[in-house]
Amino acid sequence: MRAEQDGPEDRLRRFATIWSRAVFPATSTSLTRPEFEERLLPLARRLSEALRARTYDAEEGKAVGAALVEAHCTEPEALSQTLDCVDAYLVLYCGGDRLQEDLRARAARLQSAMAAGYAEALRQRTLAEQEAIARAALEAQGAVARALHATEARFRAVFEGAAIGIGIADLEGNILQVNGALLRMFGVTERVMRGRGVPEWTHPDDAPQVWRLYEELVRGEREHYHTEKAFSRPDGTVLWTNLTVSLLRDADGNPQYQLALMEDTTERRLLNLRLRYEATHDALTGLPNRTLFFERLEKALAAGDGQRFGLCYLDLDGFKTINDSLGHAAGDRLLVEVADRLQSCATAPGEMVARLGGDEFVALTTGTDTEREVDDLADRIMNALVTPVRIDGRELLVRGSIGIVEGPAGERGPAEVLRSADITMYRAKSAGGNRYEMADAEADARAITRHGLTNALPAALDRGEFFIEYQPLVHLGDGTVRGAEALVRWLHPQHGVIGPDRFIPLAEHTGLIVPLGRWVLEQSVRQAREWQERHGGTGAAGPLRVNVNLSPCQLTHPGLVQDTVDILERAGLEPDALCLEVTESALIGADDDLLKPLRRLSEMGIDIALDDFGTGYSNLANLRRLPVRVLKLDRSFTQSMQQFPADPVDLKIVEGIVSLAHGLDLAVTVEGVETGAQAEQLRILGCDTAQGWYYARPGPPERLHELALVDATG
Ligand code: C2E
Ligand code: MG
Ligand code: MG
Repeated sequence: MRAEQDGPEDRLRRFATIWSRAVFPATSTSLTRPEFEERLLPLARRLSEALRARTYDAEEGKAVGAALVEAHCTEPEALSQTLDCVDAYLVLYCGGDRLQEDLRARAARLQSAMAAGYAEALRQRTLAEQEAIARAALEAQGAVARALHATEARFRAVFEGAAIGIGIADLEGNILQVNGALLRMFGVTERVMRGRGVPEWTHPDDAPQVWRLYEELVRGEREHYHTEKAFSRPDGTVLWTNLTVSLLRDADGNPQYQLALMEDTTERRLLNLRLRYEATHDALTGLPNRTLFFERLEKALAAGDGQRFGLCYLDLDGFKTINDSLGHAAGDRLLVEVADRLQSCATAPGEMVARLGGDEFVALTTGTDTEREVDDLADRIMNALVTPVRIDGRELLVRGSIGIVEGPAGERGPAEVLRSADITMYRAKSAGGNRYEMADAEADARAITRHGLTNALPAALDRGEFFIEYQPLVHLGDGTVRGAEALVRWLHPQHGVIGPDRFIPLAEHTGLIVPLGRWVLEQSVRQAREWQERHGGTGAAGPLRVNVNLSPCQLTHPGLVQDTVDILERAGLEPDALCLEVTESALIGADDDLLKPLRRLSEMGIDIALDDFGTGYSNLANLRRLPVRVLKLDRSFTQSMQQFPADPVDLKIVEGIVSLAHGLDLAVTVEGVETGAQAEQLRILGCDTAQGWYYARPGPPERLHELALVDATG
């Protein structure tokens, strides 16, 4: 409520108060809490301005993060308290009347910039401190050496007063003296400390070279060394230190003692670990995030000879619906549950599970036998999802689609592998979901070019990259050419000629099919007119005709009838020289509205052919209702006639279809005739027209003219 009534300055102050209360306990500042609040106020103002600035500036967030380190907010809690506080209150108190959603997004970005600035400042400070320690070590060394040679009293003062731990041992490693700071760090008494020689202070995390350096030093071959080293305290906890060890020589220059100076870095190390953890784990599920997963995958892919990897890329089916209908809180809980289940699927060494974002997860397995293991892993994941998830008393069914990539290390990079897994996952999804699919290079390549082709389609029409080939339609009774089917191709500048099966579905998907289809119709109609002019146009066989394919989208386009009429008129072609081919599947369940334009076209004298008949539902009873005059029997019927003798059942089916079609006054055209035997068989069965490689492959329009001429004269 208060936030509503106060002025902007009051609200800013209020934000600074909340912030200082949250963070103050986690600082090592000498300021009082109100003083500390004064220190935060300018930072709060900076955040507030950055929040509402017209353009986002990460530097502002980073600067505030760095300022926190300067203000001694370096305890592990300080950063996360700050981020929580910014998350909860910044928009509320400093947002003004700007759009909430924009502000939230901006606040989130500011938070990550703050974390980055904070981490960087901390790193810088650590470096600076290490330098200072090294300097202090040298000074202390000088002082100790001088003191040893001068007065014991002065040495004592340096030794005891130092804030860093100092210890002196002889060259056998017997500890001679330690100061109070060092005893406090280890949490032991001087007696205990002296009882344990230097070589006993080993730790499992010791860097490999540490003890070699030590040996060199006590042998007098090295003056000092510097390292980060862990020690086990007697109470079982670990002490991390920045350790500098120097060799002390006597007045004649002979090695005499070793001097150790150490600074306790345990807390800072914990904080760094925590920062690293936060940067590499997903906040919601606690799983490794994309960053960490990429690191691991990179490592797995760089592994040596004989090593392999297997990757399962999981995307939940229908997660968006759950999120939208039950709310984000429920969606989040579902994700947490799924994450837990996945985690329990990949517990062996070399296996890991990560969340890439949203409802996308990955599981990785590595080793020499991943070909088998990755299948098992995918099975385990699918099984883990089977039991419904209970949320708010509801049982939610969780299903997922998995794309699997498996292969030897050393061939591909992580980005390529992940893209392949992603594509394969989509393949599993479009096959109905709730399944897994294996990646294969060919399918990948198809999907990749698919994407590129879709983007290139619109410009291709403008640039005139499409062209049409014509395939003759031959009368089976007398062998004359009666016309041709127009088949569109795309001459792609990089990929060469691309067939319609690859780009027509994309054009349908993007809507480009309407202008493209109109272009094909225009070209083909003009072409038919040209054939007629050159061929004389009449004769026993009648004028040459042209068949043009229509996509379902074109059928529902309101301009279809008018466009077709215009095109015919402009070219001066009679409607009965045009046949439009529509697939059976496009007409399944068609109501009168959909059939109306086809009926109009048919009434004008344009033939309508039912293309690919026999591949869909082949609803023969339905045929009567449709304004169709030609049945085009699919290639699969012709194929079954390739072997000799042909399957008698197939023959009966074709015979049945033909007689039924003729009974309904439909002509029958057969597709895919590749041999003379097929042609003969189909003629005997009563088919009217045929099309196929036996007569001619699709080719340029001039060829048809030649073929037709040969017929007419020969
Ligand atoms: P469709 O209409 O069934 O065309 C017949 C397809 O069979 C053509 O493939 C043709 O090249 C092929 N074919 C012809 N004779 C033989 C043969 O003896 N053996 C074999 N194995 N195949 C033969 P194409 O040109 O790849 O066209 C594929 C499909 O693309 C067409 O099937 C049609 O549905 C569609 N299409 C082609 N052009 C257009 C167009 O302009 N608009 C629309 N909407 N679709 C088109
Ligand atoms: Mg066709
Ligand atoms: Mg066909």
